[in-house]
Amino acid sequence: MTAMKNKIGDKMNIPVDGKFHPEHGHRGKVVWLSEDGKTVAIQCEKNHNGKKTVFLVKSNPEK
Ligand SMILES: [Zn+2]
Repeated sequence: MTAMKNKIGDKMNIPVDGKFHPEHGHRGKVVWLSEDGKTVAIQCEKNHNGKKTVFLVKSNPEK
């Protein structure tokens, strides 16, 4: 398996999500991975409501 895999500490763009993360252009750091590798938690570099916020996203979103 040579597919790109995320790991803790990776920087990635946070996908725009109408409900949870509507802002464009934010990047974040991977702080958690699910056991199957399909879900990652990303901590946004920007503050949301004055706080660092973590978002769960799919590690390899379908194109
Ligand atoms: Zn953000």
